[in-house]
Amino acid sequence: MASNAPKTTVFETMSALARELGAINLGQGFPEMEEPPELIAAAQRALAERSNQYPPMRGLPELRGAIRDYYARTQGLEIADDGVIVTSGGTEALAASLLALVRPGDEVILVQPLYDAYLPLIEWAGGRAKFISLTPPDWAFPLAALAAAIGPETRGIVLNTPNNPVGTMLGRSMLEAIGTLAQAHDLWVLCDEVWEGMVFDGTAHVSPLAIPALAERAIKIGSAGKIFSMTGWKVGWAVAAPALAAQIAARHQFLTFTTATPLQWAVADAFALPQHWHSAHLARYQAAKARLVDGLTAAGFAVLPASGTWFITIDLAGSGLPADDAAVAERLLRQAGVASIPVSAFYAEKAEHGFLRLCFTKQPEVIDQAIERLAQFRRTG
Ligand code: PMP
Repeated sequence: MASNAPKTTVFETMSALARELGAINLGQGFPEMEEPPELIAAAQRALAERSNQYPPMRGLPELRGAIRDYYARTQGLEIADDGVIVTSGGTEALAASLLALVRPGDEVILVQPLYDAYLPLIEWAGGRAKFISLTPPDWAFPLAALAAAIGPETRGIVLNTPNNPVGTMLGRSMLEAIGTLAQAHDLWVLCDEVWEGMVFDGTAHVSPLAIPALAERAIKIGSAGKIFSMTGWKVGWAVAAPALAAQIAARHQFLTFTTATPLQWAVADAFALPQHWHSAHLARYQAAKARLVDGLTAAGFAVLPASGTWFITIDLAGSGLPADDAAVAERLLRQAGVASIPVSAFYAEKAEHGFLRLCFTKQPEVIDQAIERLAQFRRTG
């Protein structure tokens, strides 16, 4: 089958199986925790009191302003008024950006493990991907491999920080080094930053837009689904210098044209919440993460360090399990009733098979039950 044939994602498949088997679903990344009532109230207010008709194509001015303020406050970014396009989730922002950037025959460098949307979108635009890989177990960024991979047809690089699935982040000096390469070879940099608000170890999130060499050639992708833990709202955005943003807007116009007006209002209101709301929200997630990490560590699992995202990864060999993630995930689901995602699913070539991704955004009793099942699985194989 051609690689661009429709294929159901591993997340969808695992969730469907988990439902069918009544398993605990630590596979797909979505929260099953208390939803912030102030956000629900904002959405209800928006439906009743704001608008239910088309908003401006690039998004409500109030929301675009709120996004610019949020990034000025949290990341020191100065974003132009016409530098933000509101989209239907980070996914549409990725699609509109790649359709704007990639021409038939262009080569794009992707970094494995990688989020599954990048490759099909590049191929749909007529481009080709070249892969480099983070190096486990610390998932270091392969700068030398990036430099070596850049060829005459290379037009761009897709980055993801914090990284899904492994939770590591790109620091300023690495982004500067990538910026130097991008400038020397006239490349664009698309940076998927949807996890920027979910960082648990105090590491500062740095966007390529904050790097002078990249300010005009980078596109930043964000998602309210992650910042506010409302994944079903599907409100996201692309941020770029105005000339690039206009290119993205031209694609967004015919992909979806606009995104649900009341939810745009709700997200604009959510951004008006004070910074301590974000800290308290994050603290609840941090507690869930600590519960799963501590429980699994006590049960003998080797849990790898991760700065951000809603995921942790287990090193299978270090946990005394076979380094065959797909097989372990299958047995874990069918025998122990816990759904996970094999990290090899995030590779297009030369996959790592020794790691399993688990989502921790669940209620304490669910996490405890999952730990018990995983511990039993590890003891009995
Ligand atoms: N990029 C990454 C790395 C993600 O993990 C996700 C969601 N899981 C997305 C993009 C898509 O974001 P959204 O749900 O806002 O479309």
